[in-house]
Amino acid sequence: MRIARRATEVSLSVTLALDARAKALMAQGRDVINMSVGEPDFPAPALVQDAACKLIRSGNVRYTPAAGTLALRGAIAKYLTESRGVAFTLPQVTVCHSTKHALSGAILATIQEGDEVLLFLPAWVSYVEIVKLAGGVPISVPSRPDLGPDFDAIRRAIGPKTRAMLLNSPSNPTGYTWSRKEVEELAALAVKHDLVLLSDEIYRRLIYEGEPDFSPASVSAEVRARTVILDGASKSYAMTGYRIGFVAGPPEIAAAVERVHSHLVGAPNSVSQAGYLAALETEPPEVEMMKREFDARRRFLIPELQRMGLETPMPRGAFYAFADVGPYLDARGSTGFCEDLLEQQNLALVPGSAFGVDTHVRLSYALGLDRIRHACERLAAFLAAHPRAPAAARR
Ligand code: PLP
Repeated sequence: MRIARRATEVSLSVTLALDARAKALMAQGRDVINMSVGEPDFPAPALVQDAACKLIRSGNVRYTPAAGTLALRGAIAKYLTESRGVAFTLPQVTVCHSTKHALSGAILATIQEGDEVLLFLPAWVSYVEIVKLAGGVPISVPSRPDLGPDFDAIRRAIGPKTRAMLLNSPSNPTGYTWSRKEVEELAALAVKHDLVLLSDEIYRRLIYEGEPDFSPASVSAEVRARTVILDGASKSYAMTGYRIGFVAGPPEIAAAVERVHSHLVGAPNSVSQAGYLAALETEPPEVEMMKREFDARRRFLIPELQRMGLETPMPRGAFYAFADVGPYLDARGSTGFCEDLLEQQNLALVPGSAFGVDTHVRLSYALGLDRIRHACERLAAFLAAHPRAPAAARR
């Protein structure tokens, strides 16, 4: 059967593929430490589980409106008003099946054939593919050496076809969290060049030090009018399997996403909506516990990587470390490094090539401290067995 070009050109998510490979090896009995996962290793809060089960047992699991239940949209608007410090109302919110789904809805609603979307490297694996699926053209913008935004490069990348910029703070894969000043500088560029700001804020509740995350929606009314927030329950409430998230922005964007999704998926999952509503209404105590645990792991892992000689900036948020393994790479780049590491040491990491930066690897610390300790031993043994290539040979 002929497969349409848009589907042949899209690649399977590298992180999901790697996770599947690690799990397949585990099923064969290998003691694999899987640091490729992008999901919290905690169960969803008890109140969320209860609310979801209660709805199922009521028997009243039905289609909801395409934009989600009024109760959940209202709770999200309230949460946004409190957390972003500016008023959000119910018509500005459309509930989606996940943040990924919110992102694809927002991109389908704003990007036309040939429109360019700036992505800041290293960028999360799905951005490029979703922009391409919508007929847009992803433009990758390199970062500063400390993985923060390079504004000279951003200015150079903006051209007549640029329509949007996609900001992800805290970032997957680096954990880099943009400062308020950086967000304001980006917002000023968006206003000057009449660009949409797509702001993926899925990790904003997982920030461990320094100033809190600052959304472009909080800059000014002028910036808010061109900002679309994408967020969801997966990371903040350990609800990855529930598949629930939202788009929030100007009402015409929320309505456009609702129209698109009304045909593509009908409505978000009603059981997950009940779970998400319970989470937003109660602020479960498990969330703070999870955050403390992630922070302890971060404080252990990053100095360990630095001690091994791998340049790894201390991330302020999310649950990833992005380590420079450039000196250890051969012609196969970060993919070859990860393949050998999995084969020889049973340790699964994600190659930086998946995020557009082939000199690095991503380590997720969504696993217990004991396993992280073992993972560090395995990585150190692997590095010891693979002498660094001299700089001249790498050029
Ligand atoms: N955005 C980023 C930056 C992510 O890392 C992820 C998941 O890994 C998502 C969006 C998607 O999250 P969801 O599970 O809500 O689809």
